[in-house]
Amino acid sequence: MNGKSLTLIKVFGLDIKVNITWVFIALLLSWALAQGYFPAVYEGFTTATYWWMGVVGVIGLFVSIVLHELAHSLVARSFGMEMKGITLWLLGGVAEMADEPPHPKAEFFMAIAGPILSVVLAILFLGASALFAGNGYTPFGAVLRYLGMLNLILAAFNMIPAFPLDGGRVARAALWAWKGDYYWATDVASRMGSIFGITLMVFGVVGALTGAGLTMLWWVILGMFVRFAADSSRFQMQTRHALSGRSVHDLMTTKPVTVRRDVTVSELIEDWIYKYTFEFFPVVEGNELLGSVSLREVRQVPSDQRPRVTVGEIMVPASDENTIDAGASASDALGKMQGTSNSLLLVTSNGALVGVIGSKDLMKIVAITSQLAPA
Ligand SMILES: [Zn+2]
Repeated sequence: MNGKSLTLIKVFGLDIKVNITWVFIALLLSWALAQGYFPAVYEGFTTATYWWMGVVGVIGLFVSIVLHELAHSLVARSFGMEMKGITLWLLGGVAEMADEPPHPKAEFFMAIAGPILSVVLAILFLGASALFAGNGYTPFGAVLRYLGMLNLILAAFNMIPAFPLDGGRVARAALWAWKGDYYWATDVASRMGSIFGITLMVFGVVGALTGAGLTMLWWVILGMFVRFAADSSRFQMQTRHALSGRSVHDLMTTKPVTVRRDVTVSELIEDWIYKYTFEFFPVVEGNELLGSVSLREVRQVPSDQRPRVTVGEIMVPASDENTIDAGASASDALGKMQGTSNSLLLVTSNGALVGVIGSKDLMKIVAITSQLAPA
């Protein structure tokens, strides 16, 4: 879902970004509208007219999705949630939240704002299209009518109670308000999302096989997306839940095996890596933490140079990127690992090395917690 995105404009301090996949979809959709949909539904216009109808239709879709996501973002912000921006990608838009919603009411209004805006747009587009429909449809009226229908579909699809679709967020808000348990509510709502995703995929495959056409494959793609998004939201939630209230100090490996910087790479391989079968060693000088060395750095030294090159020459110096305080929360450690793609961090207390923590340590806790969770 991330991949390459281009920032187009800034609205209300939010970056409106376009994922590279959207450019292809925009081209494909303009073509499909100009060559397929519009000529089939509205006969008698020229080819050039169908093309501008297609292009205006896609621009209208783009604006509609941005407005839908803006509605989510602005309502979220009014409840004090920090919003990063909006990214348009393959199948719609994503409003990027930095925080979780603070309470069910915030989640409810934030979620419902998008579909409400889409319904309002639908009414405006359909109303405007009626103005252009004197004796049959004019090209512009036809495009407006298309956009009106599209916004209705957008609102209806998003209101399906399958997390993380808007309807699924509304369902989560309701469950959360009912039992007061955010974790449970997310779990139930995301399971519903996952089941819905699978259902879409099955319908798509069955439809395509029984001759309903290749457009049914869209259902499969959509189903895969919904299922993936639901499962990853549930996993994120489980992780956050499992790690809550735990500190780096609780989960780290204490007294890690260290290495001095004057040791050669050959010695490191034989006397540390093979001996202890660890992949990562802090580099220290007396009590001072200098950095770390791992298989990644060792691999980059050609075999014939390993007897001469020292650990000090290849180590990664200790910095804010690869160290964390023992008092920090386990979630912070996970955030740092994900943000810097370091799967192992040096743990310090008052600047001195006290341990090492890895993503495996965190995932072990997540796995154990989910095994102990009531079924
Ligand atoms: Zn939405």
